Amino acid sequence: MGAPFAEVVIIGGGLAGLACAVTLSDRGIPVSLYESRSRLGGRASSFEDKQTQHLIDNCQHVSMGCCDEFNRFCEMTGIAPYFRREKHLYFVGPNNSRSNRADGQFKINVFSASSFLPTPLHLLPAFGGLSYLSFSEKIELAQGLKKLARMSIDLDQEPTMAQWLVDQRQSQNVINRFWNVVLVSALSESLKRISLSHAQKVFVDGFLRARDHWQVIIPTVPLEQLYGAVILKRLEKQQAKVHLQTGVNRVQISDGKVTGVILRNGQEIACDRVVLAVPHQRVLSMLPDEFPGRESLSKIEQIESAPITSVHLWFDREITELPHAVFVDCLSQWMFNRSRLMQHASEEGFYYQIVISASHSLTGAARQGRTQDEIIAEVIEDLTRIWPETRNAHLNHSRMLTEHQAVFSVKPGIERLRPSQRTDVTGLYLAGDWTATGWPATMEGAVRSGLKAVEFLLEDLQQPESLFLPPSKTSILSKILFRL
Ligand SMILES: Cc1cc2nc3c(=O)[nH]c(=O)nc-3n(C[C@H](O)[C@H](O)[C@H](O)COP(=O)(O)OP(=O)(O)OC[C@H]3O[C@@H](n4cnc5c(N)ncnc54)[C@H](O)[C@@H]3O)c2cc1C
Repeated sequence: MGAPFAEVVIIGGGLAGLACAVTLSDRGIPVSLYESRSRLGGRASSFEDKQTQHLIDNCQHVSMGCCDEFNRFCEMTGIAPYFRREKHLYFVGPNNSRSNRADGQFKINVFSASSFLPTPLHLLPAFGGLSYLSFSEKIELAQGLKKLARMSIDLDQEPTMAQWLVDQRQSQNVINRFWNVVLVSALSESLKRISLSHAQKVFVDGFLRARDHWQVIIPTVPLEQLYGAVILKRLEKQQAKVHLQTGVNRVQISDGKVTGVILRNGQEIACDRVVLAVPHQRVLSMLPDEFPGRESLSKIEQIESAPITSVHLWFDREITELPHAVFVDCLSQWMFNRSRLMQHASEEGFYYQIVISASHSLTGAARQGRTQDEIIAEVIEDLTRIWPETRNAHLNHSRMLTEHQAVFSVKPGIERLRPSQRTDVTGLYLAGDWTATGWPATMEGAVRSGLKAVEFLLEDLQQPESLFLPPSKTSILSKILFRL
């Protein structure tokens, strides 16, 4: 007797493709996953650093307590033990509202939840304790947050966050030291480009709705060990076929139905169901010039991207014991103490990774001729101002990486450009963080897109199943205070 289901072809081994592959294989549906690179993980992956001969991540990836589907995916695939949940965040900023970075007076503000107060008041002492905002600025911030959370936003006419903040008369200090710090790292875009609705989602889902949603979850091993080793092994155990270094050239469509795919090596694979889980920039070139729904799908060409830069530094000594830190008023935005997080220092020394999201100013003409070494020196200057010990440390090795198309830009109007995972072509499904999930470009968004594509596919196989967790419960007080 043959298999009850024909094989599903998944193109792309990023988190969206992996979520599809795991979910389908768990249901006994045979899958073949084609990934053009030599590793799984896509934009969340590692590479070997020639000098240290260690696997390092293209950039530190973190998730949050509110990333329900990604966190469940980690549990289900057995990678959850390789993450640690941070119950304290360290915000490093000037030690009072009037001082600035030039004063060289920095304070480490420990941001953690009160165990006595109910949600969302449990974070009030943490916000209230931020040294670099004055009392009146904190009141102003609370008013802005309350207004943002309660707003109903018309997606067809929404402003950028920068415009909204000006309209609300939020002061420059509050904009720079709070809204900018939280939103740029959460959404990897500048306030001038972030849509109001995406900003609202960050605060509502991340801080106001439920108790532990704000906590940051950090991998303690290189991403390759998670997606490349543990998940690959799991897929192989489930008889899924994973073809690395096997790019797909085109999906074949005839009479409005998928008929197969052609690999870059010319091989033709017949199949009647394909999940196309590649970055949005690749999609249209992999499909025929004409097929049902091409015109509406072509809107994805208007999706813009934002860059993220990571600076990797290996010092001969530890410059701080903190596992991570968020910087205020600096070029550097987040520091991850990789040696502490991974619990070992390499022969090259103590490894720190600095992340600069929405790094438009470090790319193209905006870079103003600054060399990589100059940018790295600026980052080290930030660290030295905060941890003077850095001055005595010897830099053994460094590298800087910029992913120019790291994430899609959450500009006003973006939701109208994001297509459903179901297409007008029978047997063709889309997955990827850029498809319609309501989430920004994140691992959570990618996993959700994969689950949604599989839901549509199961429906077409007459095996409908709801794959999503029920939404997290909103605290009663948040409902009253913010009308959530
Ligand atoms: C620098 C950086 C930092 C980030 N930081 C975070 C973070 O801290 N937290 C967070 O949640 N998210 C973060 N993200 C975003 C996150 O990485 C992405 O949202 C997520 O990984 C996207 O997954 P995906 O499967 O949709 O796409 P991708 O990961 O892009 O996967 C697509 C896959 O398709 C493959 N492919 C392309 N063309 C073909 C072809 N023709 N044939 C076969 N395969 C093909 C690609 O090689 C790739 O593996 C970051 C991204 C970057 C770049």
